[in-house]
Amino acid sequence: MNSNRLGIIDDEPGFREFVAHVARTCGFDAFATDDPNAFLEYVRSRQPAVVVLDLLMPQMDGIELLRGLVGAASPAHVLLASGADSKVLDTAFRLGRERGLDMAGMIQKPIRAAQLKEMLEKLRPAHPAVTVEMLRHAVEAKMLRLHYQPQVDVRSMRVHGAEALVRWEHPENGLIPPHDFIPLAEESDLIDDVTEWVFIAAVEQCGQWRRDGLELNVSVNLSARNIGNIDLPDWLSDLCRNNAVPPPQVTVELTETASMRDTVQMMDVLTRFRLKGFKLSIDDFGTGYSSLVQLQRLPFSEMKIDKSFVMTMHEAKDSAVIVKTIVDMARNLSLMSVAEGVENPAILDQLAALGCDSAQGYGIAKPMPAETLPSFVRDWHAKQERQPANARNSVA
Ligand code: C2E
Ligand code: CA
Ligand code: CA
Repeated sequence: MNSNRLGIIDDEPGFREFVAHVARTCGFDAFATDDPNAFLEYVRSRQPAVVVLDLLMPQMDGIELLRGLVGAASPAHVLLASGADSKVLDTAFRLGRERGLDMAGMIQKPIRAAQLKEMLEKLRPAHPAVTVEMLRHAVEAKMLRLHYQPQVDVRSMRVHGAEALVRWEHPENGLIPPHDFIPLAEESDLIDDVTEWVFIAAVEQCGQWRRDGLELNVSVNLSARNIGNIDLPDWLSDLCRNNAVPPPQVTVELTETASMRDTVQMMDVLTRFRLKGFKLSIDDFGTGYSSLVQLQRLPFSEMKIDKSFVMTMHEAKDSAVIVKTIVDMARNLSLMSVAEGVENPAILDQLAALGCDSAQGYGIAKPMPAETLPSFVRDWHAKQERQPANARNSVA
């Protein structure tokens, strides 16, 4: 079994959708239902790698479902979820194990997205062919590629920047997504080489676009492991100078969970990025631990609202409230707010009404090779000019 499929059964629609969204952001192909028969049929026919079962359900409870999994001889990793007493959850978990299932973990509701994400990422099958040695060779042989995802200024609807996202162009396996090799790079010292390559490619590209008359900011992802290199801000400054790119045109994105591993060195390096004129973004905001503490302690200039909230804000009231709260907070703290995961025009309209500064997502454009970006920008701007102001956000 090497599928990236994940099945969820739960009678609570909110929780079901929450798990499905987090699973998708981890790269799973998620299927969610409240119907036990549909679920067991899915398990038999699609052989998911992971299943998430709710213990308490009206039609068929979790214990009966575990029996169903045994009957289907499912090799899936099982995550048991429950809002009930943790003792009940514990017993059910042991029961599953005695029956020979691969019991992978317990989810005590409510659970935070970051916690769930951490559990799911461990269960995601790695790319079959990926090893540290292969990745090292890929870096040396220049097989990494950057794709750029446009970012739109929500007020003017102009494209004002792009996030650089790395891919590995594998001769046999095609484009390997970052989730399949960044964790591997982070476990070894290779992450420094990957990051160095990404920064060089992104800053050179930004300089090239400027020379072509296209003024775009670039955002680049930094891994917490990279902070071990205390000279990073100086190195990036030199790189920008050599490419005639002003530092305020470069944003360094750091995930909250990464910025959590707080050390004096983290504060030193991040503060010096700011002193040298770079922007600093707290990525995946809302999913990590003690977000507010991080905000106060580290010199961020931008909050990037996690896509799990943005993607669902047009249909889930809770998500809309969370996005609004983050946008308001960013405004009150004089930080830029950026929403990622803008999957459709309705979300873009909602963000405009909330006064969010910047937006990025599949509903605007998917990440694309650098060569394609200038024509995308031209087409997008032409489309905005054709549309009347009250319907300008419609991107369909
Ligand atoms: P991230 O920084 O949160 O990047 C956003 C991810 O969300 C990208 O996936 C992007 O393609 C995807 N995305 C954008 N809009 C939408 C949308 O509307 N809907 C959905 N469902 N997804 C959307 P990608 O390129 O696969 O990158 C995944 C993660 O890999 C990134 O998450 C980032 O954490 C990491 N990563 C990517 N490039 C680098 C890099 O150069 N260095 C490091 N350290 N990490 C990187
Ligand atoms: Ca990012
Ligand atoms: Ca993000």
